[in-house]
Amino acid sequence: MFVPRSLKIKRNANEDGKNGAAKKIKPEAEDLQSDKGRDVPSDALVTKEATTPDGHSSESCPFPGPAGQLAEVGSVGPELGTKDSHPSEEPVKSFSKTQRWAEPGEPVCVVCGRYGEYICDKTDEDVCSLECKAKHLLQVKEKEEKLKLSNPQKADLEPESPRNAFYVYKEHPFILNLQEDQVENLKRQLGIVVQGQEVTRPIIDFEHCGFPEALNHNLKKSGYEVPTPIQMQMIPVGLLGRDILASADTGSGKTAAFLLPVIIRALCESRTPSALILTPTRELAIQIEKQAKELLSGLPRMKTVLLVGGLPLPPQLYRLQQHVKVIIATPGRLLDIMKQSCVELCGIKIVVVDEDKKLFKPPVLVFVDCRLGADLLSDAVQKITGLKSISIHSEKSQVERKDILKGLLDGDYEVVVSTGVLGRGLDLISVKLVVNFDMPSSMDEYVHQVGRVGRLGQNGTAITFINNNSKRLFWDIAKRVKPTGSILPPQLLNSPYLHDQKRKEQQKDKQTQKDLVTGANLMDIIRKHDKSNSQK
Ligand code: AMP
Repeated sequence: MFVPRSLKIKRNANEDGKNGAAKKIKPEAEDLQSDKGRDVPSDALVTKEATTPDGHSSESCPFPGPAGQLAEVGSVGPELGTKDSHPSEEPVKSFSKTQRWAEPGEPVCVVCGRYGEYICDKTDEDVCSLECKAKHLLQVKEKEEKLKLSNPQKADLEPESPRNAFYVYKEHPFILNLQEDQVENLKRQLGIVVQGQEVTRPIIDFEHCGFPEALNHNLKKSGYEVPTPIQMQMIPVGLLGRDILASADTGSGKTAAFLLPVIIRALCESRTPSALILTPTRELAIQIEKQAKELLSGLPRMKTVLLVGGLPLPPQLYRLQQHVKVIIATPGRLLDIMKQSCVELCGIKIVVVDEDKKLFKPPVLVFVDCRLGADLLSDAVQKITGLKSISIHSEKSQVERKDILKGLLDGDYEVVVSTGVLGRGLDLISVKLVVNFDMPSSMDEYVHQVGRVGRLGQNGTAITFINNNSKRLFWDIAKRVKPTGSILPPQLLNSPYLHDQKRKEQQKDKQTQKDLVTGANLMDIIRKHDKSNSQK
């Protein structure tokens, strides 16, 4: 047995950023020589020659099961790669003990916990040295053999090539046999609310998905015994290839809810890359990649790449070209890369946006009182702030309005300036901020406009501009808004108009009170009535 050719890749440490050094591709024989005679498993280090002409790496890892995965690993390999060493570069570390400990946020060696300076090309895991890579591969092999022993039948049935991989989600008989009211009851109890047509039933157990054995194993290893509610509903829908917009609390398992269908789709896809996960922040991207790697462990040809800012670009670009299946990126870095390289991204089948506030930020809805105002303000916003803005009013044709509405739902606009008349057509849009640039002429209209935010129990903000043009509504506004705890400007609270309206209202109330027939004033009213009658 020999160690297959492998590509040793240096992890881009933060300090690499200072000198702009790319990750290392070490073809150095010296490492092997330096390991000679020592009781340490080493590795053959080669460059891109390790890939087959079609661009795939020469490892043979069938999907969907663990059979044969990384089977040919073991001890020192005699094959050396190209000999062009890079004297200026630091040699790949042979021993774990020569590696430093990881700083917070840095990758950690899966074997010893030191700084995971390199990425194992076979498993995509972080390793600190040749020693830990070899140990890690042995562990993987042992794990696979155990799996094979525990499920020999299944392992034998695994197809030989990932290109043959084929997955169709079918409802498990257990789920199929449930009564409709049982399913509804379950959803109610778990707080699962769905919209959309013919949404498939939730699963109750990961076993109901028919995942490859290795994936089931990884789920168990990660401590995922049963799916969380968002996973129960989202995974089967995702496995059916449907588009999903999902919302659940932080920490409720959303990442795995979208990762699992992405993994299955990417497994069945021979093109690379085949999945793109966009996240708004680097931290989130790192977290998602970590979870993806845990779930992908032992699955063939399922490399991931992290494309995020704040880390050197060349290693990321290099990694992207290594036939990775899943890209986890922040939008800014992805754009940088797309500008700089001709990386083929057309193969992407699934685009998942996880809490991407930048791309799917709900628009700001601004209400004005006339069409001209809507057009002028929209243009001004776009010019001055650079935000994508659109006006919507009754002078726009039905087709235009429909397009705008679609654009809004697709997240094409960041600001919408609308006349009040059309505010009602925008019921569908979820917004976080409403600006009443012109105060509407009635309280009813005002309440309707402000009600565009904070729908479905969400928080939202409304900012209202008022001047003396709406002075007749001052007291009504104060009465309506004050109880919500909102801040009212002193100019409004101290306005003589407001006090005048308040006084008038109180007088009116007193009068109404007087006119009311009560037990106390009943006799007075009768006497008054009799008196006026007798006078007649
Ligand atoms: P998330 O909401 O995706 O950030 O997940 C929160 C945490 O829950 C992460 O640490 C996950 O690893 C973990 N997790 C996700 N799904 C499950 C599950 N089904 N069972 C146990 N832990 C889970």
